Amino acid sequence: PAKTPKELMAFVEREKVEIVDFRFMDFPGLWQHFSIPARELSEKTFEEGLGFDGSSIRGWQAINESDMLVIPVLESAFLDPFTQHKTLVLICNIHDPVTHEAYTKDPRNIARKAEAYLKSSGIGTTAYFGPEAEFFVFDDIRFDQTVNAGYYYIDSMEGRWNSGREENPNLGYKPRYKEGYFPVPPTDSLQDLRSEMTLILESIGVPIEAQHHEVATGGQCEIDMRFDSLVTMADKLLKYKYAIKNTARKYNKTVTFMPKPLFGDNGSGMHVHVSIWKDDKNLFAGNGYAGLSETALYAIGGILKHAPAILAFTNPTTNSYKRLVPGFEAPVNLAYSSRNRSAAIRIPMYSDSPKAKRIEFRCPDPSCNPYLAFSAILMAAIDGIQNKIDPGQPLDKNIYDLPPEEAAQVPQTPGSLREALKALEEDHDFLLKGDVFTEDVIETWISYKMQNEVLAVETRPHPWEFALYYDI
Ligand code: GLU
Ligand code: MG
Ligand code: MG
Repeated sequence: PAKTPKELMAFVEREKVEIVDFRFMDFPGLWQHFSIPARELSEKTFEEGLGFDGSSIRGWQAINESDMLVIPVLESAFLDPFTQHKTLVLICNIHDPVTHEAYTKDPRNIARKAEAYLKSSGIGTTAYFGPEAEFFVFDDIRFDQTVNAGYYYIDSMEGRWNSGREENPNLGYKPRYKEGYFPVPPTDSLQDLRSEMTLILESIGVPIEAQHHEVATGGQCEIDMRFDSLVTMADKLLKYKYAIKNTARKYNKTVTFMPKPLFGDNGSGMHVHVSIWKDDKNLFAGNGYAGLSETALYAIGGILKHAPAILAFTNPTTNSYKRLVPGFEAPVNLAYSSRNRSAAIRIPMYSDSPKAKRIEFRCPDPSCNPYLAFSAILMAAIDGIQNKIDPGQPLDKNIYDLPPEEAAQVPQTPGSLREALKALEEDHDFLLKGDVFTEDVIETWISYKMQNEVLAVETRPHPWEFALYYDI
């Protein structure tokens, strides 16, 4: 890792790098890029940046103010393991070319401001995030998407377990329903693929703690990264998705991080482990419930209180809410518990060490933009700590089994993206503190998501409607 632009230039020369690739995050959450020949890179690039047209990026500038700059982050440099031509990747911040200020709708900028706000609030110095992003691996048969959608429901009607992407399925050695977690090969047919993903991730600076098959059939997987601080962890999540998708592509497989690709089977979550530290002291460790501190309990109070609004960022797709239903290990109730996985917040009890004390927010899914999702979670936690928000009593029973009267007392996750966006519209002052999220970001997020996703899905005839109503 280079410490100065000069050192990086020397690295480019020494390693015979041919191409330099600039990456940044668009508003909804897809990595974008453009490249230059390596000889075009200079020390000045790190100060002055490079221009591109910001009007073509989803959710960004109006056409009349479209010029934007990428300013590469030196420490983010890594060699792309998938290109034929030796390519150095640099993750970038987005700046306005006239004012030179960081762009308000650059998700990475929002995340940087969230980290700065934590420090300036005096609460802590670092917030650590450990996301567990699950995903499905499918065979890469590229056929028409509408047929594909129909295929899924026919498949689900027949009660078969696979993705509907194999003909004449022989179900021998396919994981039984909800038994993907986790028999050895040949039932687990993706061991080598996940191992390759793991090794590639480690080679590009993303340390991995474990990899395994997940509960669902059809090749649901999880690879767990070691936790890191907010911005760095969000950067790593993008490297994670990039490496996983491109490794799968080499073997004619495709990966999806959409939260609920299969009806009637587990969806893909992205549980997020969070702790806040002051220097080398974990502020979440203490003598309260499940070894938590008062600070941690207030943080839980903040996250639970603001959860409906936060979900507009942590569960930002129409598909997200098809995962948040009972019976698939996904949370549907806004409660906390050390024992049970049906609560939105779980306190893992694997270790007694104060260093390992953290909370696990189970709502998020991997369709989120991690810069925005982690920032929203942190801002809710800070709000809880500042206002001493009481999280109430823990819910140590299996919420799925509660009698209906008791279950009705526990607040629920929003039922749809439309509801979450409405909650965000009504509750976002906690996000505006320290100018972390700005009004333009909240407004654009809501209108972008309503127009392009909520209405786009709500107004289209659904394949299942044909099954229900075609013969009416
Ligand atoms: N796939 C589950 C979810 O949607 C999580 C399974 C687990 O506990 O890892 O959240
Ligand atoms: Mg999991
Ligand atoms: Mg988990």
